[in-house]
Amino acid sequence: MSTVPDDVIATLADWLGRAKCGVAFTGAGISTESGIPDFRSPGGVWSRYQPVMFQDFLADPDARRRYWQMRRQSVPEFLAAKPNAGHLALAKLEAAGHLCAVITQNIDELHQRAGSRRVLEVHGTAMKVHCLSCGKRWSCEEIQKRLEAGEDVPTCDACGGLLKSMTVSFGEDLPADVWQDALTLCRQCDLFLALGSSLVVYPAAELPERAKANGARLVIINRDATPLDATADMAVHAPIGETLERVMAVVEADRVGPSGPG
Ligand code: ZN
Repeated sequence: MSTVPDDVIATLADWLGRAKCGVAFTGAGISTESGIPDFRSPGGVWSRYQPVMFQDFLADPDARRRYWQMRRQSVPEFLAAKPNAGHLALAKLEAAGHLCAVITQNIDELHQRAGSRRVLEVHGTAMKVHCLSCGKRWSCEEIQKRLEAGEDVPTCDACGGLLKSMTVSFGEDLPADVWQDALTLCRQCDLFLALGSSLVVYPAAELPERAKANGARLVIINRDATPLDATADMAVHAPIGETLERVMAVVEADRVGPSGPG
């Protein structure tokens, strides 16, 4: 990783300023800058625990116990995290009309907390829990209190059904309506920013490929190289928050430049 040269920042600001429908697609890398561990990385939850497959969760009480044990340990990390410069820049870009949506693989709701209005959560959210039978919902804080009070497998107080975090588990389908909206955005957008995603987890990683195939400019900002760097119009290996903050400053300066707003 290195500091991104000024001319690259200027080009990106120019592309964003011209975009009629920009879309940001975010992965774990934007949230690690808020202190949320990348669950797939060493030290992440999934290196300490085997992830619970959705079918096992449904069929096996022991799997459900493991699931809630793992969640009880990971939820405090989510609750303590705050949106960073990257999340805030994306919310500002949307408010200024340069982005029409954020599609995220993250489950931490940091985009919403930063002020982004249209957020498509392709892997769901860890910040809410629902009943798989009747659909009743709880905040993750409410269920965390029940876990800490000694419940090992919480059940629905309305119907007795199984509770589960509203994240998409391994072996579970992506939410169909959200996925369809994401595909539509990939057809509509003229600029696609892939931020902090290794672009290796399918099917989510096929979104930038589709956007590019449909004629959008593809920009990748990620700590490490990705399999799509070679096909992207721009690929930079740099911290997301710092980079977007610089881009945002140029976009804002252009809007109130010598010729005035407009
Ligand atoms: Zn229920």
